[in-house]
Amino acid sequence: MMSLQNSDFLKATLDELIIPAERVAHVQMGNNLEHALLVLTKTGYTAVPVLDAHFKLHGLISTPLILDHITGLERIQFESLDESKVEHVMKQEIPRIQKNGHFQKALSLLVDNPFVCVEDSDGYFIGILTRRALLKQLQKNIRHIQ
Ligand code: AMP
Repeated sequence: MMSLQNSDFLKATLDELIIPAERVAHVQMGNNLEHALLVLTKTGYTAVPVLDAHFKLHGLISTPLILDHITGLERIQFESLDESKVEHVMKQEIPRIQKNGHFQKALSLLVDNPFVCVEDSDGYFIGILTRRALLKQLQKNIRHIQ
C-alpha cells in the first residue's frame, strides 16, 4: 500500500506536470465554430480551452458541443459553422483549479475529466493538468515501492 509520505510526491510535482499555456492548443473568443472544429480535428483533442486576447479562461469547446449545435431535427445546419461564435456554444461550467489549489481537488476532478484547466487567482490561464500526466507520474513512483 502506498503510504501518505509517498503520496506527498504528487503535491510536490503537480506544478511540473502542468502543460504550460504556450503548449496548449486553444481557440479565442470571437472565433467561429468552423475554426474551432478545424483546431479540434487537426490536433485530435476532444476539447480545448476558450481564451480571450489577454489569456483569460472563459470555457471549453468540444466537437460534441459543436456537432450538437449544428444538428437540427431534420438536417445539419452547416452554415451555422460559419455564423456561430465559440462563446455561444462553449461550456462555461468547467473543471478548473488554481495554481496553488488543493491537490485533492485536482485529483477528484480528474476522476471524471480527462484534464483540468489551471489558472491564477485572477482567472488567467496557466495551462492544463491531464489525467494522463498524473497517472504516468503515479506509475513512475509506485514502481519503487512494489
Ligand atoms: P491526453 O492526456 O493527451 O490523453 O489528453 C486528454 C485531453 O486533454 C485531450 O483530448 C485534450 O482535450 C486535452 N489536451 C491534452 N494536451 C493538450 C494540448 N497540448 N492542447 C490542448 N488540449 C490538450
